[in-house]
Amino acid sequence: MNPVRNLKENRKIYRESQVLLNKVKIKDNGISNGVNLTNSINFQDLKAPLFIAWQINAECNLGCLHCCEEAGGSMPDEMNKEEIFRFLQQVVDLNIPYVALSGGEPLLHSCFFEICEFIRKHNISLKVETNGEFINEERAKKIAQLRFRSVQVSLDGATASTHERLRLRGNWNKAISACQLLIREGVNTEIVFVPTKFNIHEITNLIDLAYSLGVLGVYTGKIMRIGRAAQNWDILCPSDQEYKDFFATLNDRVTHYDGKMKVYYYPYDVIEELKYRLKYPSASVLVLPNGKVKLIGPLPFICGDLKKESLAKIWENYKRAWRKPKVVAFAKKVIAEPKLLAESNKWRGV
Ligand code: SF4
Repeated sequence: MNPVRNLKENRKIYRESQVLLNKVKIKDNGISNGVNLTNSINFQDLKAPLFIAWQINAECNLGCLHCCEEAGGSMPDEMNKEEIFRFLQQVVDLNIPYVALSGGEPLLHSCFFEICEFIRKHNISLKVETNGEFINEERAKKIAQLRFRSVQVSLDGATASTHERLRLRGNWNKAISACQLLIREGVNTEIVFVPTKFNIHEITNLIDLAYSLGVLGVYTGKIMRIGRAAQNWDILCPSDQEYKDFFATLNDRVTHYDGKMKVYYYPYDVIEELKYRLKYPSASVLVLPNGKVKLIGPLPFICGDLKKESLAKIWENYKRAWRKPKVVAFAKKVIAEPKLLAESNKWRGV
């Protein structure tokens, strides 16, 4: 039996996986989400994931047309405070080096800062993904004190009208203000842009705007056909030509901002991710607000429940699940018939 590695060792493996990730992207049509382990580390030997993507709540003030989580109201069975901190203690005990919080809108969670403080107190890297609408001066200062690895603010347009057309009930000025407040406090701030038919034409202006704001980087890629994005696919999905122009522009902007700001884009979609993950599962898990643990975003399979099982046991289930005929067969069906991605939020056990 291999022992659980310490935090430093796991952090090193995580970093190596990110280097590997960059090589894989070029060689294998690899994948940006999750943690890639191909040759260097045996996935089966890991006693815990290296990365936790945690949707801490389902509540959101917005109703974005492309929301993968179909966020809006809270789930009736979300983890309570005791369950949350029991889970977090396991993250600490298993020396998991990196956690990303999202929602819903994570800043609407009543324990948001307590969760962040706990994670940072144990020297675990923390990224938070937010729509930015609840970042005020006081919260920006608090975030700066906690020294997050980064805060990613969603900005889906270089103009208010474009952003707000996609992000229903959204306020572009608030997202911009969030970036300004965070940057002023020295927080590593990044912008995430999801291309759709509504906004893809604004990518050049958006990147230039990001630079003028002083963000660390802009992250983008193809829209994921999950949740509300799957429901609204026909009105949202850019055409092949629009994507071609988009990636050509991005290529140009990468060169233009080289050494000044990171422009990162991932040119593959969730179907390509799924193909890759069947061969190389990620060393990460996706935790839902109710404690259920999903195998991967595009598939509906649940491999554990943090309210009932330990994270270590769920991790073993996760590793086995990727080899189960039921999972492999359904994943192949989805690859052949991408419309089935619309079922990704209709959870079922493996
Ligand atoms: S802000 Fe994020 S979580 Fe909220 S509806 Fe939009 S995409 Fe979903």
